[in-house]
Amino acid sequence: MYADIVIIGGGASGYSSAISAKKTNPSADVVIVEKLSRTGKKIIATGNGKCNLSNISITEKNYHGSLNTVKIINNTPDWYELFERELGVMCVQGSEGRSGGIYPHSNSSSTVVNAFRLKIGNLGIKEVCDFEVKSIDGIDGYYIIKSYDKQIISRKIIIATGGYASPSFGTDGGMLRIFRERGYKISKICPAVSPLKVSSESLKGLKGVRVKGEISAISDGKTLRTERGEIQFNENNISGVCVFNLAYLFQKYGEKLSLYIDLLPEMDFESVFEYIKNIKKDRAECSIDELLTGIFVRNMAVYLMKNTLRRTMTDKIKSLTDGEIRGLVRRIKGLNFDVSGCASWQNAQATCGGIHGDCVTENLESRLETGIYFCGEVLDTVGDCGGYNLQWAWSSGLWAGKKCAESLKGGRND
Ligand SMILES: Cc1cc2nc3c(=O)[nH]c(=O)nc-3n(C[C@H](O)[C@H](O)[C@H](O)COP(=O)(O)OP(=O)(O)OC[C@H]3O[C@@H](n4cnc5c(N)ncnc54)[C@H](O)[C@@H]3O)c2cc1C
Repeated sequence: MYADIVIIGGGASGYSSAISAKKTNPSADVVIVEKLSRTGKKIIATGNGKCNLSNISITEKNYHGSLNTVKIINNTPDWYELFERELGVMCVQGSEGRSGGIYPHSNSSSTVVNAFRLKIGNLGIKEVCDFEVKSIDGIDGYYIIKSYDKQIISRKIIIATGGYASPSFGTDGGMLRIFRERGYKISKICPAVSPLKVSSESLKGLKGVRVKGEISAISDGKTLRTERGEIQFNENNISGVCVFNLAYLFQKYGEKLSLYIDLLPEMDFESVFEYIKNIKKDRAECSIDELLTGIFVRNMAVYLMKNTLRRTMTDKIKSLTDGEIRGLVRRIKGLNFDVSGCASWQNAQATCGGIHGDCVTENLESRLETGIYFCGEVLDTVGDCGGYNLQWAWSSGLWAGKKCAESLKGGRND
């Protein structure tokens, strides 16, 4: 089999790159090869099945890595042009999750996949499934792409194989290993948009507790990033969207990272102190495990008392000193956990690290091998939770597809 352009990986960036390539050069044969039995499987799982496909606010701060991500996003059609105008997917700004998230109006990710597949079929782009690429050999300006007993010959290749996150959707980092062997610089890989591990000992009594608060990632006394939102305590990790947005920091700081949680960020230290002193007056004869009832859920209230005061819980509230209450407020405003690891790939939504920006041109073409382009999560860029990773996948795919097809127009190895 021969194709002018072979796109390896039938996920988010594979879809958009195929459409962009075919529209740029309608006479080109464009083929998507996919390892799984169907394309688009991961997209179906996104946004809890609702697909948070973009965000109304895209800034440099939302992306981390060695690529000029936002420049590429700004150079390509935005979510409105791509989904509403090109694909006919009616979109809405979601009421759930991060503010500014864009979702399909149907509230179903399958709407997005169906619209892509319809467009791909209408444009005459072929899909070849159950084709796991195991090797790529360059010979005389052509590439031989092999999968076990099958092969395809092509002039140009777009690598859209994703990273390591959620391997059950076909993304086990296999292609990154192939490119590492070919001499590409791969930035340190680590799970992102994922929980952060802390010791189960430090979480004793908190399993299943959810709070609203402010969480900061700190290393060597320096605050790296602060997020507000719901924080969930599990057996050996802390999760929630605001924690997901800190997880990429593990790549650089590893176990030097600590998490500080302010459980009452809307109040300053003295206001919390006065508030608790008033409670002390009202509940003077109650046992101290009732001091924080009404402020926190029971397990959190008991956790705070037990881990701060050297008391038996049956002591009377009236016996608490101002010094003890101040100690308690310090804990409420700065609940501290040392990060002991990152999540497993199964529990990660994205990959931090990948093909380094130094290895690709502004057109996302390889600087090492002419005619090979990259897009999506395989590249060294990761976005925050809230539609940023899919936006990068769509945009980098559109850009790589366009540039790849343009180079085909100009000659074999243009
Ligand atoms: C559970 C979950 C929920 C998420 N929710 C959101 C969300 O709501 N919003 C958001 O912005 N992001 C979300 N993400 C992240 C987002 O889905 C990814 O960043 C995005 O899909 C990456 O697109 P991609 O094209 O680079 O790779 P993928 O979409 O991962 O596609 C890569 C494809 O390549 C195929 N492949 C891999 N290796 C080979 C090979 N050797 N040969 C052939 N094919 C191969 C894979 O089978 C796969 O189909 C979520 C991720 C997960 C796991």
